[in-house]
Amino acid sequence: MFMTSKEKRHCQPCNQETSHVVVLVRKESAFAGDEKQSTKEFIAGLIKGWAVGPFLAEMDDFERHLICECCGQKTVED
Ligand SMILES: [Zn+2]
Repeated sequence: MFMTSKEKRHCQPCNQETSHVVVLVRKESAFAGDEKQSTKEFIAGLIKGWAVGPFLAEMDDFERHLICECCGQKTVED
């Protein structure tokens, strides 16, 4: 699952503010790893859900991929 949007960002190669495509990609670690890891992440997710609300807990499972529309430079944010 992913979502896209547009965002004005500074691009290093372009050395200016350019339009970036933002793609939200689910982190692989949410699925990968052994059972203990998954359980730990599940519990951590639950605790985060209680602490900050379901929406933010869900967002935490995504990486933000920002792709410059001018040069194609990709930046990944947690
Ligand atoms: Zn660029």
